Amino acid sequence: MPNPKALVVFDFDWSLVDEDSDCIVLEKLSKPLRMKMDKLQHSMEWIDMMAVLLKELHSAGITRSQIESALSSVPMHPSMVSCLHMAKHHNADIIIVSDANTIWIDHILTHYGVHHLVDKIITNHAEWDAGNCIAIDSNTHSQQNCNTIHSTTGEKMCNRNLCKGHELRQLLNLREYDNVVYVGDGVNDYCPSLQLRDTDVVCVRKGRTLEKLIIDNYSNVRAEIKFWNDADDVLEIFSNVFTRTRLKSEEKERNASTRMWYLAKGMVAENIPRILSLNRAAKPLEHL
Ligand SMILES: [Mg+2]
Ligand SMILES: [Zn+2]
Repeated sequence: MPNPKALVVFDFDWSLVDEDSDCIVLEKLSKPLRMKMDKLQHSMEWIDMMAVLLKELHSAGITRSQIESALSSVPMHPSMVSCLHMAKHHNADIIIVSDANTIWIDHILTHYGVHHLVDKIITNHAEWDAGNCIAIDSNTHSQQNCNTIHSTTGEKMCNRNLCKGHELRQLLNLREYDNVVYVGDGVNDYCPSLQLRDTDVVCVRKGRTLEKLIIDNYSNVRAEIKFWNDADDVLEIFSNVFTRTRLKSEEKERNASTRMWYLAKGMVAENIPRILSLNRAAKPLEHL
Protein backbone atom coordinates (compact mmCIF):
# COMPACT_ATOMS: atom_id res chain seq x y z
CA MET A 1 0.00 0.00 0.00
CA PRO A 2 1.51 3.45 -0.91
CA ASN A 3 2.02 5.97 1.85
CA PRO A 4 -0.90 8.31 2.54
CA LYS A 5 -0.82 11.28 0.24
CA ALA A 6 1.04 14.24 1.66
CA LEU A 7 1.38 17.73 0.23
CA VAL A 8 4.59 19.66 0.80
CA VAL A 9 4.38 23.38 0.05
CA PHE A 10 7.49 25.53 -0.11
CA ASP A 11 7.78 29.26 -0.19
CA PHE A 12 10.81 30.04 -2.36
CA ASP A 13 12.91 32.99 -1.13
CA TRP A 14 14.49 32.46 2.29
CA SER A 15 12.70 29.10 2.47
CA LEU A 16 13.62 26.70 -0.32
CA VAL A 17 16.62 28.91 -1.12
CA ASP A 18 18.75 30.74 1.42
CA GLU A 19 18.45 34.26 0.00
CA ASP A 20 15.99 36.58 -1.72
CA SER A 21 16.44 35.90 -5.45
CA ASP A 22 15.14 39.36 -6.50
CA CYS A 23 17.62 41.07 -4.16
CA ILE A 24 20.54 38.88 -5.31
CA VAL A 25 20.01 39.68 -8.99
CA LEU A 26 20.06 43.43 -8.32
CA GLU A 27 22.80 43.20 -5.71
CA LYS A 28 25.10 41.40 -8.16
CA LEU A 29 24.27 43.41 -11.27
CA SER A 30 23.36 46.97 -10.27
CA LYS A 31 23.99 48.56 -6.88
CA PRO A 32 21.99 51.71 -7.81
CA LEU A 33 18.92 49.60 -8.67
CA ARG A 34 19.39 47.58 -5.48
CA MET A 35 19.27 50.86 -3.55
CA LYS A 36 16.25 51.99 -5.54
CA MET A 37 14.53 48.77 -4.51
CA ASP A 38 14.88 49.74 -0.83
CA LYS A 39 13.13 53.03 -1.54
CA LEU A 40 10.35 51.70 -3.81
CA GLN A 41 9.32 48.66 -1.82
CA HIS A 42 7.40 50.75 0.73
CA SER A 43 5.26 52.47 -1.89
CA MET A 44 4.60 49.74 -4.48
CA GLU A 45 3.43 46.15 -4.65
CA TRP A 46 6.56 43.98 -4.77
CA ILE A 47 5.90 42.44 -8.17
CA ASP A 48 5.08 45.80 -9.80
CA MET A 49 8.33 47.18 -8.38
CA MET A 50 10.29 44.22 -9.80
CA ALA A 51 8.71 44.70 -13.25
CA VAL A 52 9.96 48.32 -13.22
CA LEU A 53 13.43 47.46 -11.89
CA LEU A 54 14.00 44.63 -14.38
CA LYS A 55 13.12 46.92 -17.28
CA GLU A 56 15.65 49.43 -15.94
CA LEU A 57 18.21 46.65 -15.56
CA HIS A 58 17.75 45.82 -19.24
CA SER A 59 18.06 49.52 -20.20
CA ALA A 60 21.33 49.65 -18.25
CA GLY A 61 22.73 47.02 -20.65
CA ILE A 62 22.61 44.00 -18.35
CA THR A 63 22.33 40.86 -20.49
CA ARG A 64 20.33 37.68 -20.16
CA SER A 65 23.44 35.62 -19.48
CA GLN A 66 24.50 38.02 -16.70
CA ILE A 67 21.07 37.62 -15.08
CA GLU A 68 21.21 33.84 -15.44
CA SER A 69 24.64 33.69 -13.87
CA ALA A 70 23.40 35.86 -10.94
CA LEU A 71 20.49 33.43 -10.51
CA SER A 72 22.91 30.49 -10.41
CA SER A 73 24.57 32.11 -7.40
CA VAL A 74 21.39 31.98 -5.28
CA PRO A 75 22.28 29.43 -2.59
CA MET A 76 20.24 26.29 -1.96
CA HIS A 77 21.39 24.30 1.08
CA PRO A 78 22.23 20.63 0.34
CA SER A 79 19.84 19.55 3.10
CA MET A 80 17.03 21.41 1.33
CA VAL A 81 17.83 19.35 -1.77
CA SER A 82 17.59 16.27 0.48
CA CYS A 83 14.20 17.50 1.78
CA LEU A 84 12.87 17.52 -1.79
CA HIS A 85 14.19 14.00 -2.42
CA MET A 86 12.78 12.75 0.89
CA ALA A 87 9.33 14.22 0.23
CA LYS A 88 9.23 12.68 -3.25
CA HIS A 89 10.48 9.34 -1.89
CA HIS A 90 7.45 9.38 0.43
CA ASN A 91 5.10 9.98 -2.48
CA ALA A 92 4.30 13.59 -1.53
CA ASP A 93 3.19 16.22 -4.01
CA ILE A 94 5.68 19.09 -3.93
CA ILE A 95 4.44 22.58 -4.75
CA ILE A 96 6.19 25.94 -4.68
CA VAL A 97 4.07 29.04 -4.02
CA SER A 98 6.06 32.23 -4.43
CA ASP A 99 5.87 35.91 -5.31
CA ALA A 100 9.09 35.61 -7.36
CA ASN A 101 8.64 34.61 -11.01
CA THR A 102 8.80 31.58 -13.31
CA ILE A 103 12.17 32.50 -14.90
CA TRP A 104 13.88 32.77 -11.51
CA ILE A 105 12.41 29.59 -10.04
CA ASP A 106 12.80 27.44 -13.18
CA HIS A 107 16.44 28.49 -13.57
CA ILE A 108 17.42 27.91 -9.93
CA LEU A 109 15.64 24.54 -9.64
CA THR A 110 17.30 23.40 -12.87
CA HIS A 111 20.69 24.69 -11.69
CA TYR A 112 20.44 22.49 -8.56
CA GLY A 113 19.07 19.51 -10.54
CA VAL A 114 15.78 19.34 -8.63
CA HIS A 115 13.25 20.74 -11.10
CA HIS A 116 11.86 17.28 -11.88
CA LEU A 117 10.97 16.76 -8.20
CA VAL A 118 8.58 19.71 -8.10
CA ASP A 119 5.02 18.99 -9.23
CA LYS A 120 3.77 22.54 -9.59
CA ILE A 121 5.03 26.12 -9.32
CA ILE A 122 2.51 28.82 -8.49
CA THR A 123 4.13 32.20 -9.11
CA ASN A 124 4.14 35.23 -11.42
CA HIS A 125 4.58 34.29 -15.06
CA ALA A 126 7.67 35.85 -16.67
CA GLU A 127 9.11 35.67 -20.18
CA TRP A 128 12.14 36.92 -22.08
CA ASP A 129 10.85 39.14 -24.87
CA ALA A 130 12.43 39.40 -28.34
CA GLY A 131 15.03 41.86 -27.04
CA ASN A 132 15.86 39.63 -24.04
CA CYS A 133 14.12 41.96 -21.60
CA ILE A 134 12.01 40.26 -18.92
CA ALA A 135 8.26 40.82 -19.04
CA ILE A 136 6.41 39.85 -15.86
CA ASP A 137 2.69 39.18 -15.90
CA SER A 138 1.42 39.97 -12.43
CA ASN A 139 -2.10 40.63 -13.59
CA THR A 140 -3.77 38.21 -11.22
CA HIS A 141 -6.16 39.12 -8.45
CA SER A 142 -5.71 36.27 -6.06
CA GLN A 143 -6.05 38.81 -3.18
CA GLN A 144 -9.80 39.11 -3.87
CA ASN A 145 -10.14 35.71 -2.24
CA CYS A 146 -7.95 36.53 0.77
CA ASN A 147 -9.78 36.32 4.08
CA THR A 148 -6.88 37.21 6.40
CA ILE A 149 -7.19 40.74 7.73
CA HIS A 150 -4.30 42.71 9.22
CA SER A 151 -5.06 43.30 12.91
CA THR A 152 -3.97 46.96 12.93
CA THR A 153 -4.62 48.26 9.40
CA GLY A 154 -7.84 46.28 8.87
CA GLU A 155 -6.69 45.55 5.31
CA LYS A 156 -6.19 42.20 3.57
CA MET A 157 -2.82 40.70 4.47
CA CYS A 158 -1.90 39.50 0.98
CA ASN A 159 -0.68 41.36 -2.10
CA ARG A 160 -2.97 42.07 -5.06
CA ASN A 161 -1.37 39.41 -7.24
CA LEU A 162 -0.95 36.58 -4.76
CA CYS A 163 -2.86 35.23 -1.77
CA LYS A 164 -1.05 32.05 -0.82
CA GLY A 165 -3.93 31.11 1.52
CA HIS A 166 -6.30 31.10 -1.45
CA GLU A 167 -3.84 29.06 -3.52
CA LEU A 168 -3.53 26.50 -0.70
CA ARG A 169 -7.32 26.24 -0.35
CA GLN A 170 -7.52 25.55 -4.10
CA LEU A 171 -4.93 22.77 -3.78
CA LEU A 172 -6.79 21.19 -0.85
CA ASN A 173 -10.06 21.32 -2.84
CA LEU A 174 -8.46 19.57 -5.80
CA ARG A 175 -7.21 16.58 -3.86
CA GLU A 176 -7.69 14.99 -0.47
CA TYR A 177 -4.35 15.12 1.34
CA ASP A 178 -3.80 13.28 4.61
CA ASN A 179 -1.39 15.95 5.73
CA VAL A 180 0.30 19.12 4.54
CA VAL A 181 3.76 20.37 5.45
CA TYR A 182 4.26 24.08 4.74
CA VAL A 183 7.70 25.70 4.80
CA GLY A 184 7.84 29.50 4.92
CA ASP A 185 9.37 32.63 6.39
CA GLY A 186 7.60 35.78 5.24
CA VAL A 187 4.50 37.92 5.78
CA ASN A 188 2.72 36.28 2.85
CA ASP A 189 3.21 32.83 4.42
CA TYR A 190 0.98 33.79 7.36
CA CYS A 191 -2.32 33.61 5.43
CA PRO A 192 -1.69 30.00 4.23
CA SER A 193 -0.53 29.03 7.73
CA LEU A 194 -4.07 29.82 8.94
CA GLN A 195 -5.56 27.48 6.30
CA LEU A 196 -3.66 24.47 7.63
CA ARG A 197 -5.53 21.81 9.61
CA ASP A 198 -4.63 20.10 12.87
CA THR A 199 -3.14 17.18 10.92
CA ASP A 200 -0.69 19.57 9.19
CA VAL A 201 2.68 21.08 10.09
CA VAL A 202 3.91 24.62 9.49
CA CYS A 203 7.71 25.03 9.45
CA VAL A 204 8.46 28.62 10.43
CA ARG A 205 11.92 30.11 9.82
CA LYS A 206 13.38 31.70 12.95
CA GLY A 207 14.28 35.39 12.88
CA ARG A 208 11.98 36.24 9.97
CA THR A 209 8.60 38.01 9.85
CA LEU A 210 6.44 34.89 9.84
CA GLU A 211 7.88 33.86 13.21
CA LYS A 212 6.63 37.03 14.91
CA LEU A 213 3.20 36.80 13.25
CA ILE A 214 2.82 33.17 14.32
CA ILE A 215 3.95 33.85 17.90
CA ASP A 216 1.58 36.86 18.20
CA ASN A 217 -1.34 34.83 16.82
CA TYR A 218 -0.50 31.42 18.21
CA SER A 219 -4.10 30.47 19.00
CA ASN A 220 -5.22 31.11 15.40
CA VAL A 221 -2.95 28.39 14.01
CA ARG A 222 -4.40 24.88 14.08
CA ALA A 223 -1.39 23.13 12.54
CA GLU A 224 1.56 21.86 14.54
CA ILE A 225 4.19 24.63 14.59
CA LYS A 226 7.88 23.80 14.08
CA PHE A 227 10.56 26.49 14.10
CA TRP A 228 13.74 26.12 12.03
CA ASN A 229 17.06 27.87 11.61
CA ASP A 230 18.52 26.13 8.61
CA ALA A 231 17.77 23.34 6.16
CA ASP A 232 19.25 20.71 8.51
CA ASP A 233 16.38 21.49 10.92
CA VAL A 234 13.83 21.17 8.10
CA LEU A 235 15.31 17.83 7.08
CA GLU A 236 14.90 16.58 10.66
CA ILE A 237 11.29 17.82 10.77
CA PHE A 238 10.55 16.10 7.44
CA SER A 239 12.15 12.89 8.69
CA ASN A 240 9.95 12.88 11.82
CA VAL A 241 6.78 13.79 9.93
CA PHE A 242 7.24 11.15 7.26
CA THR A 243 8.21 8.45 9.79
CA ARG A 244 5.10 9.26 11.82
CA THR A 245 2.95 9.19 8.68
CA ARG A 246 4.40 5.85 7.62
CA LEU A 247 3.81 4.31 11.07
CA LYS A 248 0.21 5.56 11.10
CA SER A 249 -0.30 4.07 7.65
CA GLU A 250 1.17 0.75 8.75
CA GLU A 251 -1.06 0.75 11.83
CA LYS A 252 -4.10 1.40 9.64
CA GLU A 253 -3.09 -1.47 7.37
CA ARG A 254 -2.52 -3.78 10.37
CA ASN A 255 -5.91 -2.86 11.80
CA ALA A 256 -7.61 -3.59 8.49
CA SER A 257 -6.09 -7.07 8.26
CA THR A 258 -6.77 -7.77 11.97
CA ARG A 259 -10.37 -6.74 11.43
CA MET A 260 -10.65 -9.17 8.53
CA TRP A 261 -9.17 -11.93 10.70
CA TYR A 262 -11.67 -11.33 13.55
CA LEU A 263 -14.58 -11.19 11.09
CA ALA A 264 -13.43 -14.49 9.55
CA LYS A 265 -13.38 -15.95 13.07
CA GLY A 266 -17.01 -14.90 13.49
CA MET A 267 -16.54 -11.93 15.85
CA VAL A 268 -19.38 -9.40 15.88
CA ALA A 269 -18.23 -6.34 13.85
CA GLU A 270 -19.20 -3.83 16.60
CA ASN A 271 -16.76 -5.41 19.07
CA ILE A 272 -13.72 -5.13 16.78
CA PRO A 273 -12.93 -1.40 17.27
CA ARG A 274 -12.47 -2.02 21.02
CA ILE A 275 -9.99 -4.84 20.35
CA LEU A 276 -8.07 -2.63 17.90
CA SER A 277 -7.85 0.22 20.41
CA LEU A 278 -6.50 -2.23 23.03
CA ASN A 279 -3.83 -3.29 20.51
CA ARG A 280 -2.96 0.37 19.83
CA ALA A 281 -2.65 1.11 23.57
CA ALA A 282 -0.03 -1.63 23.77
CA LYS A 283 2.09 0.09 21.07
CA PRO A 284 1.96 3.86 21.66
CA LEU A 285 3.19 6.19 18.90
CA GLU A 286 3.31 9.30 21.11
CA HIS A 287 7.10 9.25 21.53
CA LEU A 288 7.35 10.52 17.95
MG1 LIG B 1 10.08 33.88 1.61
ZN1 LIG C 1 -4.36 35.85 1.84
